[in-house]
Amino acid sequence: MKDAKNSSKELKSTCCYCGVGCGVVIEKQSDGTIRVRGDESHPSNKGLLCSKGMNLHHTVNDQIDRLLFPQMRYHKDMPLQRVDWDTALERTAAVFKTFIKKYGPNSVAFYASGQFLTEEYYVLNKLVKGFIGTNNIDTNSRLCMSSAVAAYKMTLGEDSVPVCYDDIELSDCILVAGANPAWCHPIIWRRVEKHKANNPAVKIIVIDPRVTDSCAIADLHLQIQPGTDVTLFHVIAKLLIEAGKVDWNFIESHTDGFEELRDLVLTISVSEASDICGISEDYIYRAAEYIGSANAFLSMWTMGLNQSVVGVDKNVSLLNLHLLTGTIGKPGSGPLSLTGQPNAMGGREVGGLANLLPAHRDLNNPQHREDLQVFWGGKTIDSKPGLTATQMFDALNEGTLKAIWISCTNPLISLPDVRKAEQALKNAKFVVVQEISSKSETLAYADVILPAAAWSEKEGTMTNSERRITYLPKVNRPPGEALSDQEIFCRFAKKMQFKGFDFPDAEAVYLEHAQLTKGMNIDISELTYDILRSNRSIQWPYTEQKSTPRLFTDLKFYTNNKRAKIYAASTSLGSEKPDDDYPFILTTGRIRDQWHTRSKTGKVNKLNQHIARAYLSIHPDDARELGLRENDIAHVKSRRGETSVPCKLDKGIKKGVVFLPMHWGKILNSDLNRTNNLTNNLLDPISKEPDFKFCAVRIEKFFKP
Ligand code: SF4
Repeated sequence: MKDAKNSSKELKSTCCYCGVGCGVVIEKQSDGTIRVRGDESHPSNKGLLCSKGMNLHHTVNDQIDRLLFPQMRYHKDMPLQRVDWDTALERTAAVFKTFIKKYGPNSVAFYASGQFLTEEYYVLNKLVKGFIGTNNIDTNSRLCMSSAVAAYKMTLGEDSVPVCYDDIELSDCILVAGANPAWCHPIIWRRVEKHKANNPAVKIIVIDPRVTDSCAIADLHLQIQPGTDVTLFHVIAKLLIEAGKVDWNFIESHTDGFEELRDLVLTISVSEASDICGISEDYIYRAAEYIGSANAFLSMWTMGLNQSVVGVDKNVSLLNLHLLTGTIGKPGSGPLSLTGQPNAMGGREVGGLANLLPAHRDLNNPQHREDLQVFWGGKTIDSKPGLTATQMFDALNEGTLKAIWISCTNPLISLPDVRKAEQALKNAKFVVVQEISSKSETLAYADVILPAAAWSEKEGTMTNSERRITYLPKVNRPPGEALSDQEIFCRFAKKMQFKGFDFPDAEAVYLEHAQLTKGMNIDISELTYDILRSNRSIQWPYTEQKSTPRLFTDLKFYTNNKRAKIYAASTSLGSEKPDDDYPFILTTGRIRDQWHTRSKTGKVNKLNQHIARAYLSIHPDDARELGLRENDIAHVKSRRGETSVPCKLDKGIKKGVVFLPMHWGKILNSDLNRTNNLTNNLLDPISKEPDFKFCAVRIEKFFKP
């Protein structure tokens, strides 16, 4: 307790925005409102918070938009009406049972979120895979991290980020690819900035088609042609091999696949790569020299690599650079994929995607499926991966999927080719939306609305980008009749007459999940809430009472033969082709002070002041040719849809490339004039992650009719 007069109380928790996972101290006032500050005892942020984290309390204190009670309608033409929880869940269970009986378990699907707490993820995954009997559970992490997940599994044997944030200060070359951490992962970036300021000899390389704030401290900005990253990584690999700047001993003793890569990359000339990537030969040589000369080489990336039709190829070709130089499992070295959501990593731990099982078990492994079925006491687990995020909406349009349960995400703004997703929700026979905010556009298509508890209104754990698990306490009660996602799923499971969902609290769920990790590479079976509370946070695996900051220090990887696999990824790009009708490449992304579809950040005046509205970033030369000036309204059209948005002239964007932020549902007060009206639904063939960073568009000056 602190400040007896105000009876304020302090509790330690974790920021609920990005995957940096900063520790926060929540100060609860006697009137129930909260204040938030950075937690100096949390190793990930050491007291620092970015603009979003600093304003977190506004999203909790301002309850005006909250959903307060369940709502339901019996027919699509009827209005929604308030009902009690039993009525809403009994009707939902009855409808789901009917579809499952008539069309089989694959006729229903659950689309969830990387913002869930690990316990919520676990319960939903158990319910869907273990008891309903379908693998149709996927989350918005599919749109974010699935290419990195696939690449880690292919190269290292499991989905395992090998490094910790403390490696930043030990590194002497940091490569940032397809990411703008200065805006999107600011606290990580502050550590990089400080490290560079204290050690000017440390080299920073940024690969991005745009000049972003992250370029401010870069020694080298490689302004790449979108989609050509594999060629760039391959030609760097070639230069490293030719210069003998590779670790031959590491390659020979700890990897497979080198010869195939070598034979491929030696056929790529630097001049050819320079033409393809739009980067000068000199810059390519310098990038290879910086990486080859580094004793400790660290890479960071996000959506520029992941959100691509060749996302896995981009990831593995970057991972190759670590495997060639032996910069993995050593201080200051290794790949650090940054996660966009606070608990995307926790979701991966419990198998919360359509192709994963808990504790990194393998869906293809019959023994793993059987072990799980016995442990849960449920149904036989299907060996086929379920529908992924965008595939669910395709299946609704095709009529093979009848019902979808959407929780903690707003697909009507965030999915690619979103008009198709909107049509899917219109076509769906039954839609459940579990949400905190009454402003979510997806609610428009709900047959049942379930009000959920928000951050700080429920207890559980989250894991950040460096495998660090942190405990989050329940600080305040959810408003109205809102319940935690865990409680909602457990109540539904009981309405379905499933056994094994009588968890008294979040800790009981956590302990069941932790038990499943025993003997696995991700082992946290000895890690309890008490240990988490007293240690502030722990990095998995946790064995012999020790946290694990860095993986693979023994250079034994999680593959069957303990050797990492080098992949010779193809350089071909299957993205949409620009042509005379659609000559520009559109890339989309985040801005500094907004997050996802603005359901939280949009409520905070201070955050809306940074950039108040959507904009089209376009090179001044391109704008001039189109007759567009600053703030003119551009009409942007793709083969799928259109949007109209003010222009921002930006010398820092590559000519022929334009950028739109992803956050806004309405631009210029129009009806769902969204960025994702334009994007396409092409997927990486392995990760099924959409190609958000590349679609062909036409741009015209907007004239009112
Ligand atoms: Fe929150 Fe990410 Fe900002 Fe840290 S960097 S305060 S986790 S939004």
